[in-house]
Amino acid sequence: MARKQLLLECLLCGCLHSRADIVAGRYWIETLVCSECYAKMQQKPHQLSCFGKPTWANFNSLKPLLGYSPKSRECKQMCPDRHVCAHIIQGKKEET
Ligand SMILES: [Zn+2]
Repeated sequence: MARKQLLLECLLCGCLHSRADIVAGRYWIETLVCSECYAKMQQKPHQLSCFGKPTWANFNSLKPLLGYSPKSRECKQMCPDRHVCAHIIQGKKEET
């Protein structure tokens, strides 16, 4: 008796996730991306991905390193990862 299990694919890495993963916070149903991919994005330098990072003043150049900013239009309306990003910035830094 095989019960049909709901499996969702991560848009970035293609790994499959079940409902249990969503409940446990290992997969984000809003964006269809897994937490592992988000963790990798968060570890990338600011220039490659602003995801999950605060904005830092950059003392070596004139431009600050842009991260999450609740006041910016991108972070409020446009970024596809905004809910997850805000959750990471405002919540715990790392989830295990
Ligand atoms: Zn993934």
